Amino acid sequence: MSSQPNLDYQSEEEFEIFPQLEIPDTLAAGPGPGNTDPRVLERFAAAGVADHMQADVVRGMKEAKFMLREVFGTSNLYTYAVCGTGWSALDTAFMPILKGDKVVCFVNGTFSGIDDLSVRLHVASNEELAANPLDPKPENVVTVNVPHGQSVTGDIVEAALAEHKPMWAVMAHWETGSGRINDLQGFNDACAKHDVMGIIDCVSSLGITDFNIDDYPAVTTWASCPQKGILGLPVTYAPISFNDKVIDLIKQRGCPSYLHNPILDARHWCINDGQDVEAAAYHRTHSGYAVASFHEALRLLLQHGRAQKAADYAFYEKGLRNAVESMGCEVTSNMTSLVVCNLPADLAGKEKELVGNCRARGFAIWPTLSEPTQVRIGILNQLTPAAITDIVGRFADAMIEMGAPVDKDEILGDLSSYLASR
Ligand SMILES: *Cc1c(COP(=O)(O)O)cnc(C)c1O
Repeated sequence: MSSQPNLDYQSEEEFEIFPQLEIPDTLAAGPGPGNTDPRVLERFAAAGVADHMQADVVRGMKEAKFMLREVFGTSNLYTYAVCGTGWSALDTAFMPILKGDKVVCFVNGTFSGIDDLSVRLHVASNEELAANPLDPKPENVVTVNVPHGQSVTGDIVEAALAEHKPMWAVMAHWETGSGRINDLQGFNDACAKHDVMGIIDCVSSLGITDFNIDDYPAVTTWASCPQKGILGLPVTYAPISFNDKVIDLIKQRGCPSYLHNPILDARHWCINDGQDVEAAAYHRTHSGYAVASFHEALRLLLQHGRAQKAADYAFYEKGLRNAVESMGCEVTSNMTSLVVCNLPADLAGKEKELVGNCRARGFAIWPTLSEPTQVRIGILNQLTPAAITDIVGRFADAMIEMGAPVDKDEILGDLSSYLASR
């Protein structure tokens, strides 16, 4: 059976149907997705056959909405989840920006780079799109580039907003491409000072670090994803929260989308006429399986507790960081779910080979997706001594295979005393 594309139409008699797709279990030890929790998979598989208006499916969506307000730390009415992935929520977050609005986007890695591209594609005029269809440069969008490996600071945001006086500003809270935490407080304060509506990509931080979005009132929109800090299945539900300022703006100016229109979409989550209501209004065909799995992911997060989970990430990331540094790597990240590092000088340039070797064995770490090439090792949903020891051991094996002078026993011994110190 060939998996090469066959561009000639084959009749049904000629067509040989592919065998059932088997996908192996791997250890997702990258920036995301994390390994889906068995409880989430179990709820997905156990859900009955029910349509998108069935009472328990709608109840699940309502309960998920209330849990999301806890997870975000907010009293924003328009807190719900967008079907799809992180980019679906971000697309919804950018939808209230209209052509001609001035926007400043801060970019310090792959993902904030795509945020900026999304905004530019969304607001470019027909002429601007035609001039550069896949990478338009609309006049009203200013991109502020911060070098890979560095954080966006409050001073950078303040200077850009003072100079450009935009209506909107966009920043990633945690830039997963380079593993850097950006200055959320500084971003909020500059937005407040210059009366700018802030949009935050919190795809990598929500459910990992402990914060309440209501403490950052100048940030009017927050968008996250199903499968990083929230331990849901990819392509189920991406959390989003808008404050009333954005919703009022949409009421005045509109929003050029049916699918990703917050006011219309939220009606299916029983948010209507400025309040939580009993009945859902059809927006699209939600999946009872997706709802059941997402509901369990939110229960898992709240049962663990936001503060405890954040402390666990910080503790285990430090164990991994220490081990990787002992192997001669230089860590340049400061996120607590991910270690981004340069290999020792002898192995420089061999990052992709090392990552490829690991991935071939089901140890799914990642290189950086934009230059410079670095190695990314993540610990999403790997918050136990056994899981961290497994990750460190496998990475040590890969380093040894590449010829690095790594003493695996010593590294694992040090890790074991660190883990026992808690
Ligand atoms: C992963 C990620 C995204 C994209 O999320 P998808 O679920 O892949 O659509 C966007 N922004 C940041 C900061 C991310 O880490």
